Amino acid sequence: MTLIDSGQKPQAIHFALDHPASGNLAVEWIHGSISSKHNQDPDIQVHAYNEHTYILRQNMAVHAEAPFMYLLFGNDRAMLLDTGATEFAEFFPLRKTVDQLIDRWLAQYPRPVYSLVVAHTHLHLDHIEADSQFFDRPDTEIVGLSLSETQEFYGFTHWPEERVEFDLGGRVLQVIATPGHEEAEVSIYDPYTQILVTGDIFYPGRLYVRDWPAFTESIDRLISFAETYPITHIMGCHIEMTRTPGRDYKIRTTYQPDEPPLQMTVAQLKAVRDAIETINARSGVHVFNDFIIYNGIPEGYFGDDPDGALVAYLARNQEGYRRHKKQVG
Ligand SMILES: [Zn+2]
Ligand SMILES: [Zn+2]
Repeated sequence: MTLIDSGQKPQAIHFALDHPASGNLAVEWIHGSISSKHNQDPDIQVHAYNEHTYILRQNMAVHAEAPFMYLLFGNDRAMLLDTGATEFAEFFPLRKTVDQLIDRWLAQYPRPVYSLVVAHTHLHLDHIEADSQFFDRPDTEIVGLSLSETQEFYGFTHWPEERVEFDLGGRVLQVIATPGHEEAEVSIYDPYTQILVTGDIFYPGRLYVRDWPAFTESIDRLISFAETYPITHIMGCHIEMTRTPGRDYKIRTTYQPDEPPLQMTVAQLKAVRDAIETINARSGVHVFNDFIIYNGIPEGYFGDDPDGALVAYLARNQEGYRRHKKQVG
C-alpha cells in the first residue's frame, strides 16, 4: 500500500458526473480451449473498463463456470464483487491479482488509508470460493455468507422491496435486492459508469429459478429501476449462450468460441418480463433468443448435493471467517 505524508491531501476523484464515465468493452474474453490441459490463457483475465472499474474473468480451464467478477474503486474503498469458483491461490490467484490492481491504483491516487470490501452478488459456490484468500488481508471487510449478514451489511430493513445505497467514497452504489435465483442475491448499480451488475439473475445464459414469485418480482424491480435510472450496460456473471439465438453451450463445457457479449441491454431485460408472461409459472426449460429460463432445476443437474458443497465450504472456512470478523470488528 502506498502511503502519503499526513499533511498532503489525497486527490479527490469526482465520480458524480452528469454523463456516464467512458468505458472500454473492446475486449475478447478468454473462453476456454479445445484442450483444457493445453490452455495458455491467464488464470484470471483482467480488463480495465476504465481506470476505476475492472472486469475480471476466471479461466474456463481452471473452472468451467468461468464467472466474471468486478472491482470498483471509490475515494475511500474498493469493492470486489464476487471471488470466483476456485478456492486455492495456486490455481486461481485472485488475492494477488486484486492486490496488484489496488497497489497500482494507489500509486496513481495515493491515500493514507484505503480499504477493500469483498462482497458477493449471491451465495453460490462459484461466486465465493476465493473469499478465504482475503481472510488475512488488512483493511478488508468480507460480507458474510448468509441472507441475514447480507441484509445487515448493506443496511436493508425492508428486504426485498427496499433499495439501499452503499458509498465507496463519492461513488454511491445502489443495491437492489434480487432474490429468485438465490435468496440473498443483490444487483448493484454504479452511477459512475451507469452499469447495472445483475449476478446470476440476468445474463446471456441459463437463468436458473429456484423461487418463481421472487424471481418475477426481482425482474420487475430491475425493470422499474431501469426505467428510472440511465443504464449503459447490464452485466451478469456468466456467458452460456452462443451467438445463435436460443442455443446455449452444454453445461460444464470448457470451450466457448462463439460467445455473445457479456453486456446486455434494457430491451433484453424487458424480454425476460415477456418470457415470464409466456411461461406463466409452468415448470421446465423455456428457451428464448438471448437466455434460457429453467423454472425449477432438474434433479442431480448440479451434481448430487450443491447445497452440501456450500455447507462443506463454510465448515472448512468457519474458523477463517470467525477470525477475520474478529479482526475487523
Ligand atoms: Zn448462482
Ligand atoms: Zn454462477
